[in-house]
Amino acid sequence: MSEPTLTAAQTQSASAAKSTGAAASASAETLAQLAGAIVDGRIRVVDLTVPLESATPTIQLPPPFAPSKAFSLDEISRYDERGPAWYWNNISCGEHTGTHFDAPIHWVTGRDYANNATHNIPVDRFIGPACVIDVAAQAKADPDFLLTREVVEEWERRNGRISAHAWVLIRTDWSHRTEAKDFLNAGPDGSHTPGFHPQCVPFLAKERDILGVGVETVGTDAGQAYRFDPMFPCHTIMHGSNRFGLASLTNLDKLPPTGAIVIAPPLKIVNGSGSPLRVLALVPV
Ligand code: MN
Repeated sequence: MSEPTLTAAQTQSASAAKSTGAAASASAETLAQLAGAIVDGRIRVVDLTVPLESATPTIQLPPPFAPSKAFSLDEISRYDERGPAWYWNNISCGEHTGTHFDAPIHWVTGRDYANNATHNIPVDRFIGPACVIDVAAQAKADPDFLLTREVVEEWERRNGRISAHAWVLIRTDWSHRTEAKDFLNAGPDGSHTPGFHPQCVPFLAKERDILGVGVETVGTDAGQAYRFDPMFPCHTIMHGSNRFGLASLTNLDKLPPTGAIVIAPPLKIVNGSGSPLRVLALVPV
């Protein structure tokens, strides 16, 4: 039998691996440990995503603003005359439906950044350490609760400075409200849901090096944020600082304040302003 011959590409990649040397083997070891820990359960994978179905609540804008479509699943075939051996569906929805990603291009303040849409954001910016700020008790007492800079600074005194490329996740337990009516909590004067105080957002967006923020509510701004100065401060300032948002998260009560890693890549929609996505957290046991 003749010796297998290496293709030019294989030879090239083998020599590239040799030339990167010790650094490559250290990171290879890190990844091997990660894989092993996931397999044997020392790292738990927690799903931060809500189910995506027609009942999934979507944000409701008052007239005259154009509405976003709810999710729909339309069957193409299901092992029947339309396709005897296969089942599949067409799907449709707004980009900002269910657990979803907000890209900087979503807001007028973020529209001029390079690489600001779902298809061209550098992919390393979808993965980062989670800083989980628990304000569930405050949000339970007051649906209009706003996270202030002081609460974040108090969190930092206990847990350390918000790390570089962190996803800052606000635990409100709002996802426990499984009925759409309670989740959206709309009144004649708009929604009453917790969010960020206008003075907190510049602190997170400009004084800390974060990827973005994540919330359990339908959008990253508080329900009453249309009244704030600036209006919708989280959208205005986060996206105006080229940072991201994650909305309608769940299971934040299963994360430690620090130590988890969040993986949140949106669909690669060309010029997308966001997309539904599966958000996973790697959590130490
Ligand atoms: Mn959104």
